[in-house]
Amino acid sequence: MRKSNESTISAPLPYGSSLPLAENKHLLRWVEKMADLSKPAAIHWVDGSQAEYEAICAQLIENGTFIKLNEQKWPGCYYARSDARDVARVEERTFICSLSKDNAGPTNNWEDPFKMRKKLKELFRGAMRGRTMYVLPFSMGPVGSPMSQIGVQLTDSPYVVANMRIMARIGLPVFREIDRDEKRVVPCMHSVGMPLAPGESDLPWPCNDQKYIVHFPETREIWSYGSGYGGNALLGKKCFALRIASNIARDEGWMAEHMLIVGVESPPDASGKTEKTYVAAAFPSACGKTNFAMMVPPKGFQGWKVWTVGDDIAWIRPDASGQLRAINPEAGFFGVAPGTSVKTNPNAMAALSRNTIFTNVALTPDGGVWWEGMTDEPPAECLDWQGKLWTPAIGKATGAKAAHPNGRFTAPASQCPCIDADWEAPQGVPISALIFGGRRSGTIPLVYQAFNWSSGVYAGATMGSETTAAAAGAVGQVRRDPMAMLPFCGYHMGDYFRHWIKMQRTLNVTPRIFHVNWFRKDAAGNFLWPGFGENIRILKWIVDRVRGRAQGKETPIGWTPHYRDIEWSGLDFSMETFEQLQNVDRAAWRKEVMGHEELFIALHDHLPPEMVYERELLICRL
Ligand code: GDP
Ligand code: PGA
Ligand code: MN
Ligand code: MN
Repeated sequence: MRKSNESTISAPLPYGSSLPLAENKHLLRWVEKMADLSKPAAIHWVDGSQAEYEAICAQLIENGTFIKLNEQKWPGCYYARSDARDVARVEERTFICSLSKDNAGPTNNWEDPFKMRKKLKELFRGAMRGRTMYVLPFSMGPVGSPMSQIGVQLTDSPYVVANMRIMARIGLPVFREIDRDEKRVVPCMHSVGMPLAPGESDLPWPCNDQKYIVHFPETREIWSYGSGYGGNALLGKKCFALRIASNIARDEGWMAEHMLIVGVESPPDASGKTEKTYVAAAFPSACGKTNFAMMVPPKGFQGWKVWTVGDDIAWIRPDASGQLRAINPEAGFFGVAPGTSVKTNPNAMAALSRNTIFTNVALTPDGGVWWEGMTDEPPAECLDWQGKLWTPAIGKATGAKAAHPNGRFTAPASQCPCIDADWEAPQGVPISALIFGGRRSGTIPLVYQAFNWSSGVYAGATMGSETTAAAAGAVGQVRRDPMAMLPFCGYHMGDYFRHWIKMQRTLNVTPRIFHVNWFRKDAAGNFLWPGFGENIRILKWIVDRVRGRAQGKETPIGWTPHYRDIEWSGLDFSMETFEQLQNVDRAAWRKEVMGHEELFIALHDHLPPEMVYERELLICRL
């Protein structure tokens, strides 16, 4: 082992380099090979320390990538603006390169893995010239948890290293894990794709117009080229924890889902005891996960508490007793900034008040940040997410937003006031209910409960949602987004449905499945439901259903609450509006089911029979 170590660093270390921090010979050999391909000027092994973080941030400031925010108001916070062409995930440039095209399925982009490897070799050849290659080890899940997985990202982006330090557990403890266990590591190769010639000065946000976000599911490898942004570049998140992990999970009998996890605590009973119920919920990107995960019950709901375990990804596994348990593989929140305020999400505001990285929001003259919806009154002036002067008058005249709609904060989860006591429990938390939800201005009621597991899987599988700014492309178009996993399922969607169906056979306690829609609108285009903290009313009904003490009404699509089944104290909400929200319009649903069929036709040769039967039953009931 020592030998290969020595051979790696036989030449004097170039400036900025550090000695290897691991002894694992596979890792050393891979780092050597990738350095040989991409030709970085230096190699830095990331120890994850605070001192190292500060040095990296200082370097980012010097390069113009970071601006240090006002230390009094925003302690430990940094501000970044991306290139305007690198602001969201790029689904069109995301590939699942399984050996057979059939295994990727029709919902993923596929390329022959041999051809793709050739292409990537070309792209990465010399791609890191003039830059430092960071060797960044990370654990998805608490270090040492039996549910955790380890990856190592090689990246030439210090911005990525800084963000990954918040989003995942990184550094020395992870290298120790790799050395101790000779654990299987998921290799993640990343370059912004902008090598520097000698003496060439860098850009604040280097990236490349050609982008490739590539996954090799059989060999569990990730290659990402050309982007420095969020889900394209922080490879532990979508690429590993969803696309690769969904493959590992299918093979090993667990689930990697695009879900938040919360613990709902009831007020104390007569003897002072409270009751906590954990639920996980899948909503597509920018459809309310982070808000739901940190929900603050409104007045009238005193005593109820919602505790956050995770806001984006859940790894869920049956324990020895047949109960599903979930961990949040992440350590931070990469949240949508616009719309986040002390009114809508005070917990997120507290979490992001320090030690946070802001990307593509507005910069105020006093060294603070602002975004649409943060305060009622916009600042008199600020610099927008592209660095241009923005005033309310300019905004009004041109329609320009101060913050990009997909502007984000990267904040440590530990800073969230409502973080759950068990959020890092190695065995995870027990899950009693699963919730699916899309952004739908029509047809889909506020809430319904599926009749059973397979009808619940059907509800998730056929979920539709209007597209958002979280991904490049048109916004506001309804598309099928099964289980909110359309951009994240790393294999054939039909096989994924089958895996869901099969999971139930391993369970002793079957979680109840629900569907919600906070976004139904009236004829004038206004939301019918106030949402945010008021969602607790729906969550309470869900918890009560799970615990067998709430009524419901049978409809063709599932069980729905009567007006009287919802706790209304503290909210003046009419029965008429509620009925409008809950309305199951048979004609609209028959149309909806045609959308289901379109998806099923695309998946037909892998579709489990349960999905076909559920659809037939639904049509009969309609
Ligand atoms: P995530 O990307 O799924 O985590 O979604 P976020 O929680 O960040 O929310 C995305 C957008 O949806 C933001 O603009 C929120 O203000 C908005 N949003 C979240 N929850 C609700 C809700 O209950 N009702 C309405 N109308 N909007 C919501
Ligand atoms: P989101 O996470 O689900 O909070 O929007 C980022 C993403 O899905 O791209
Ligand atoms: Mn997400
Ligand atoms: Mn979120």
